[in-house]
Amino acid sequence: MPKVLVADKINEKGVEVLEGSAEVVNDPTITPEELLETIDQYEGIIVRSRTKVTRDVIENAKNLKIIARAGVGVDNIDVEAATEHGILVVNAPQSTSITVAEHAMGLMLSLSRKIAIADASVKSGKWEKSKFMGMELRNKTLGVIGMGRIGSQVVKRSKAFEMDVIVYDPYITEETAKELGVEITTLDNLVQTADVMTIHVPLTPETKGLISKDELAKMKDNAILLNCARGGIIDEADLYEALKERPELKAGLDVFENEPLENSPLATLDNVVLTPHIAASTKEAQRDAAIIVAKEVKEVINGGTPTNVLNMPLVDSETFQTLKPYFQLTEQLGKVLVQTTTPNISDLNITYSGEINGRSKEPLTRELLKAFLNPILTEPVNSVNAKSVAKQRGIKLTESETEDSGKYDASIKVSVKYDDEESTIEGVIENKEPKIISINNYDVNLKLEGLMAIIQYKDLPGTIGTIGTILGKYNINIGEMQVGRESTGGQAVMVLKVDQEITEDAIKELEGTQDIEVVKPVNL
Ligand code: NAD
Repeated sequence: MPKVLVADKINEKGVEVLEGSAEVVNDPTITPEELLETIDQYEGIIVRSRTKVTRDVIENAKNLKIIARAGVGVDNIDVEAATEHGILVVNAPQSTSITVAEHAMGLMLSLSRKIAIADASVKSGKWEKSKFMGMELRNKTLGVIGMGRIGSQVVKRSKAFEMDVIVYDPYITEETAKELGVEITTLDNLVQTADVMTIHVPLTPETKGLISKDELAKMKDNAILLNCARGGIIDEADLYEALKERPELKAGLDVFENEPLENSPLATLDNVVLTPHIAASTKEAQRDAAIIVAKEVKEVINGGTPTNVLNMPLVDSETFQTLKPYFQLTEQLGKVLVQTTTPNISDLNITYSGEINGRSKEPLTRELLKAFLNPILTEPVNSVNAKSVAKQRGIKLTESETEDSGKYDASIKVSVKYDDEESTIEGVIENKEPKIISINNYDVNLKLEGLMAIIQYKDLPGTIGTIGTILGKYNINIGEMQVGRESTGGQAVMVLKVDQEITEDAIKELEGTQDIEVVKPVNL
């Protein structure tokens, strides 16, 4: 029977899953030296966060097929080394969603009914009934920021409280929103309308400081703000000022800019409930994580395919060699698309042509989806889960081939549909470099790299000069410029390479100018 090492303490239900399929060695105190010495006996290993599965361990693991993390983060596993050695790495990202959603509901109730502060008062010997007038949740508006795994569980629970739900998540489609029975809105409207606002987005450059002074100032006087996602999404200094000035405003926080929280002025306020990053800590979440990964290990040692894989090689090496130059191209196309389109796309069509035809292009499609989805999601999207993540998010994917790749060895054309619009980009490899050769069916020819911008404008005398003048005013130097147009005086598109990042102010000024319609900066 294959041997599986359980190297950290996991819930026994996980071990039970493996009974009959594997000889399980339960050694939750194994030392790094013992692990290095014995790992070659095992086909599977299950860890939590204590055991470090390093490159050295992986290099000694001659029989290992799968490394399973009974939880979410895989910082303790060298995923790259595992991929190089053809070892699968799996985790259980869905195991904590309900647990975290319940914690958010707990903070919500604690604040709406002043439970934590009333508890402290009673325990200090007081009986201050009139001080703790609460607010019912029924018929109140819940604003959910981020409608992923956790956000949707919060929505489900809030409906039992008869709350109305509005959602801000630019990356979900209208169709998904309809299925979930929620109304999509803008961040600005959500902030002003919500009685309770709850955050469930990943911490990304885009979400850092998402809720700062301006947003806090727009919140209703007696609103509740919750963060069980990541510290830094709310600006803590701004939050402190807002809560101090407006005692009816309330906040419930599980996560902080710096953890553990030390000497925070937030801890001096009555209108705040703080918990020490415990939103995901329940026995059930740990049990579910153990069961989920044990099932994955069982699947793999029986020759099957697991679900939550974080790595996996996909095609034979000859195909891989043919596709290799195009990986960077698809990645760049995905990155351009996510930065230039409205992100709640419904359809994504990829047309391949030229020398890559007649072979599996799975890895390229997945590379493109990875680049498109990774900036907006918490869990890493990888070549294995990319398609299923796209499907879960309501994106209809089609892939096709055409003969004609023009003068190039091969080309890749990607179109996305969102609302009533369509955006198309086509790229090729020329002199071993990825290039964009058309955008929205206007011909251009520019290397895909560094800081770029795509500008849609009306082809009228002076417009190109205006663009140059405005960028110059903001000290943004144009390195290269290409224009494509429908007809004289018609719609036109400009692709620029710039030496400095195009600032928000520069974009605002450009877009405020007659004849310049849309300015999208791209950072590759
Ligand atoms: P998820 O990837 O399933 O969902 C994230 C959602 O955020 C997606 O729907 C995405 O479209 C949306 N999003 C991304 N960028 C956005 C933006 N700029 N504006 C609005 N929406 C945006 O993630 P999840 O599993 O639901 O986790 C949500 C958060 O909870 C993450 O930050 C995660 O790290 C955190 N988390 C915290 C704990 C804890 O112990 N407190 C435990 C687990 C997860």
